[in-house]
Amino acid sequence: MERVLIVGTGFMGGSLALALRRSGFKGEIYGIDINPEALKKAKELGVIEEGFTEYGPVKEVAPDTVVIATPVRTFTDIARNLKGVISEDTVITDLGSVKGMLVFKLEEILGTKFVGGHPIAGTEKSGVENSLPDLFEGKKTIITPTERTDKEALKKVVEMWETLGSEVEFMDPFLHDRVFGAVSHLPHAVAFALIDAIERLSEEVDLFRYPGGGFKDFTRIAASDPVMWRDIFLENKENVIRSIDVYVESLKKLKSLMEEGKEEDLTRFLENVRVRRMNLR
Ligand code: NAD
Repeated sequence: MERVLIVGTGFMGGSLALALRRSGFKGEIYGIDINPEALKKAKELGVIEEGFTEYGPVKEVAPDTVVIATPVRTFTDIARNLKGVISEDTVITDLGSVKGMLVFKLEEILGTKFVGGHPIAGTEKSGVENSLPDLFEGKKTIITPTERTDKEALKKVVEMWETLGSEVEFMDPFLHDRVFGAVSHLPHAVAFALIDAIERLSEEVDLFRYPGGGFKDFTRIAASDPVMWRDIFLENKENVIRSIDVYVESLKKLKSLMEEGKEEDLTRFLENVRVRRMNLR
């Protein structure tokens, strides 16, 4: 890797650039963003050498590696824009939270040197000013190659993540969306909905004046970026809706145990979930 182009110089794109530098990367890092302010900040913070709002200058930059780090529903348009300005040898990867069909659409546009990726690392914060150089250290990164993925491109992307201290795991793109639809997208949906419910329960008293530690812990992720999450929910709609349905069943189960006043059954239910949670690594 000598010249890296990051499309979307926000929190994740910025963190990747800083992590590359931290790992000793001596090459050039360029950025593309639709928001000139994001590019300005990224340049001021030393995250990128130069930034562009258009794709024209990318031809001159001639990146050997491109990382797409924008909200997931922008990916296919970005891929079409990139297609005309990057060489056939350029390896393209992404940091998007949804894979599935999107991986195949991107492969169709960009060719077999596209390698889908999703670092399982992040925070509720967005914007390059919140980027963290050690974000990926000790975290998993899911790579979702297809049967057609170029072996050399795959190797390059795996090596990049390992250099950043990340543990790489391969996964089928559709399995990825079922897994993260449940363990990541569902909890975010629940946190967003909980805040909405507390607001609707606030007729008599402003309940947000009394947040306990549990409420704050539980809802931290509801402060996440709306556009990023709108895109994730729409792009992984089927899996998230299925997970919500199962979650509603669990809530109903808990509700009926309370209604029926079944002390022992309720204790057993809570004991089971407690053990599950305590065994979390
Ligand atoms: P962010 O809002 O901090 O940054 C996104 C950047 O993309 C912004 O600077 C925005 O101006 C730019 N952008 C938006 N549309 C664009 C377009 N069409 N062309 C060029 N630039 C565009 O968001 P983020 O947290 O960095 O998330 C980026 C990606 O990383 C998303 O796909 C998200 O699913 C994924 N991801 C995020 C996290 C997390 O915790 N934040 C974790 C894992 C994966």
